[in-house]
Amino acid sequence: MPTVATAAVLQTQHGPYELLPVEIDDPRADEVRVRIEACGVCFTDLEAMEMLDAPCVLGHEGVGIVEAVGAEVDDIRPGQRVLVSYPWCGQCNSCVDNRPYHCTEHMALAFAGSRPDGSSPIRLAGQPIGSAFFQQSSFATHAIAPARDVVPVDSRLSPALLAALPCGMQTGAGAMLNSLAVRPGESVLVFGVGAVGLAAVMGARLAGAAVVIAVDMKSNRLEAALAVGATHVLDPRDGEVPARVRAITREGVHVAFDTSGRDVAIRQAMDMLATGGRLGLVTIPDWGQDYRLSLQPLFERAGTLTCIIQGSARPREFLPRLLESHAAGRFPIENLVTSYPFAAINQAIADIRSGTALKAVLVMP
Ligand SMILES: [Zn+2]
Ligand SMILES: [Zn+2]
Repeated sequence: MPTVATAAVLQTQHGPYELLPVEIDDPRADEVRVRIEACGVCFTDLEAMEMLDAPCVLGHEGVGIVEAVGAEVDDIRPGQRVLVSYPWCGQCNSCVDNRPYHCTEHMALAFAGSRPDGSSPIRLAGQPIGSAFFQQSSFATHAIAPARDVVPVDSRLSPALLAALPCGMQTGAGAMLNSLAVRPGESVLVFGVGAVGLAAVMGARLAGAAVVIAVDMKSNRLEAALAVGATHVLDPRDGEVPARVRAITREGVHVAFDTSGRDVAIRQAMDMLATGGRLGLVTIPDWGQDYRLSLQPLFERAGTLTCIIQGSARPREFLPRLLESHAAGRFPIENLVTSYPFAAINQAIADIRSGTALKAVLVMP
């Protein structure tokens, strides 16, 4: 028996979202159905609005209660609260090697708008629509997800705070703790301190970084960066960033991390690396375009460039670790989250675009 749910349906590529009744499949053998309590809004949702065929349902930071599990699911039970994290196939060499963040099917699983077999778990007025976004489409009151993608959580945190974690916070913190493996005493530069960059600031401090420099042009973001552990904040409009970074750390930074995808930031980040430094990117520069970047500054510094997906995190290990850090007062996400009723989704999207909200989370009725 399909479940009747309410989904935020994107009827045209630019929106707005409309809350509409839809039908959601029963879970297949390896899937679970989650009653979504809250869902974070991530920049990838905004980018994907113009990538997927409309009508479609987005959302990829679901939190909720498992309502039903498929016949082959033996590690997740109805009634459990779960975070729904990123999709992985479970079969490619990376997945078998316990590196799901390097799954060869990642792009298709995230962005094809369907299950791997082309089917859609959501129907609007009887017709299948674009869904299974990140194999969840959690901008809805209910979602179908593969059981392997969900992470049981035992936490007193509200669903609204938990929903900040599954993608954006995992990516930023994981970039520091896993992908770039910041060591105690190192210096770190973060370009762009929206939600992912702020998570990187917190992750760098968790890793023991001595200097964490945040760069952004929005004052509310720089204030938030200071509140969650940045040692220095710089607005590029107040003067040349490279010279000011050299004044803080003469030999350059050990680790630079860019969330902006902006050409000038990536070039400056390479110039500010210390010898042997590591540069991490999480945003595709000039998506889909032929992108030219001189690698000479990186080569001169014997630097490493790493493109990072999902903070190289294994969600069932990493998300509980972030929650433990939060409980110990060392990952203060409550400073960053603004929650919106589900019906205010268009306002949440607008506030993310304008930068008024650092991390927007939708709370389902
Ligand atoms: Zn895989
Ligand atoms: Zn995301």
